[in-house]
Amino acid sequence: MGGPWDLVVIGGGSGGLAAAQRAADHGARVALVESGRLGGTCVNVGCVPKKVMWNAAHLAHLLGDAPDYGFRLAVTGPQDWRLLREKRDAYVRRLNDIYAGNLERRRIHLVRGTARLTGPRTVAAGSEVLEGRHIIIATGGCPLVPDLPGAGLGITSDGFFELEHCPARTAVVGSGYIAVELAGLLQALGSAVTLLARHDAVLRRFDVLLQEAAAAGLQAGGVSLRWHSIPEALERRADGLHLRTRDGVEHGPFDSLVWAVGRLPATAELGLEAAGVDSDAGGFIPTDRFQETGVPGIFAIGDVTGREQLTPVAIAAGRRLADRLYGGMEGRHLDYRNIPTVVFTHPPLGTVGLTEEQARTLHGDAVRVYRSEFVPMYHALTEAKPKARLKLVTAGVDERVVGCHIAGPGVDEALQGFAVAIRMGATKRDFDDTVAIHPTLAEELVTLR
Ligand SMILES: Cc1cc2nc3c(=O)[nH]c(=O)nc-3n(C[C@H](O)[C@H](O)[C@H](O)COP(=O)(O)OP(=O)(O)OC[C@H]3O[C@@H](n4cnc5c(N)ncnc54)[C@H](O)[C@@H]3O)c2cc1C
Repeated sequence: MGGPWDLVVIGGGSGGLAAAQRAADHGARVALVESGRLGGTCVNVGCVPKKVMWNAAHLAHLLGDAPDYGFRLAVTGPQDWRLLREKRDAYVRRLNDIYAGNLERRRIHLVRGTARLTGPRTVAAGSEVLEGRHIIIATGGCPLVPDLPGAGLGITSDGFFELEHCPARTAVVGSGYIAVELAGLLQALGSAVTLLARHDAVLRRFDVLLQEAAAAGLQAGGVSLRWHSIPEALERRADGLHLRTRDGVEHGPFDSLVWAVGRLPATAELGLEAAGVDSDAGGFIPTDRFQETGVPGIFAIGDVTGREQLTPVAIAAGRRLADRLYGGMEGRHLDYRNIPTVVFTHPPLGTVGLTEEQARTLHGDAVRVYRSEFVPMYHALTEAKPKARLKLVTAGVDERVVGCHIAGPGVDEALQGFAVAIRMGATKRDFDDTVAIHPTLAEELVTLR
């Protein structure tokens, strides 16, 4: 197959695959370049293997609760990390193959190699030069390792997925959702985890209710939280890794240290300047609402744009863009408001819309907040009594629901439906008028007073 192509996509992750396939479904001739494994971050070192590990951690929590429900279990040893890893990696490999098959079926020309823009319409990859009417940059990013003495002794989330056994003592540095998730599941799977955060809270971009729920959940699970801890140097000694923080405190020894302090966009080697595409100070590529960069015909989607860094966001942006360019759907673009997301901790946390603070900044005194805190029925019988927490944020005289934040068992599945309602403009009255499903945690959201 030869060019020129209707579309050249750089990056075969969540966004790139979605855009390429949707464009091909509309009849476009598409080439896609991928330097690593198909599926990108999400499938190989993100959501998918993470959720497998979270499922395992969830089982560990259930096993802990089982005696309270009358089960006499004899768990005869530590969790078999090697077996779990083998099965997880085999699953990921199956997905890689499925993605390759999906491209083949749609006659998308797959180039294995590192792509580089050589002009506003051309991409060099391996021995090929691909000319495209449109180009989509969907190169995602990679974890950041801080520039500190000894930092290379630590690993990142990528390295976490390569661990061959569960470290006995782990430090997780960071306070975002990846830090919180990895800390929680490592602890549940048998590691003694210390989480070190720069400020005095985790998940600082989330509603305060979820910040508090996350910290409480981690602590209840046994994670040791160290606030105001800014790393200065990492050192290996005979007994393990030691981390010195700026306040002079030395933390350790640890068998493993995970940096979860942010992600960098994969733009440095992309040849943006050759095509005239601008990036911001952090290297991210800004776009307009149609995902178009400053150069007509060159688009960027997903993590590389620095917007909500989530798989469904990258996919949605890619599909809508392809619908607009090749499906005749003029004006179609992704609305970045009201994007729901879940943090896979124990219990999980779900959020959609504005935090209370954001709502008050936007709507002032027109904001009303409803909240509830209670021990969910599941824990009525267990020794541990973690509380579920819910908050609805409304705005205006009609009390439109502009934010919903929940922490508790099952919210990872419950949130999606509420997100539909909130996107459609549901009011508090709509919530109240919906008949509850009993007995569930989610019913609390339609009975809040
Ligand atoms: C530990 C972890 C857990 C996560 N959990 C979740 C979750 O639970 N839910 C969720 O929604 N999101 C989650 N995410 C985020 C999610 O993985 C990303 O938002 C998503 O993968 C972004 O998709 P993308 O297409 O923008 O980039 P990616 O998926 O990163 O794909 C980019 C692709 O481009 C390729 N590439 C880069 N440069 C070049 C080049 N020059 N030439 C050719 N190919 C190139 C890369 O190899 C990669 O395959 C998680 C991320 C991490 C790290």
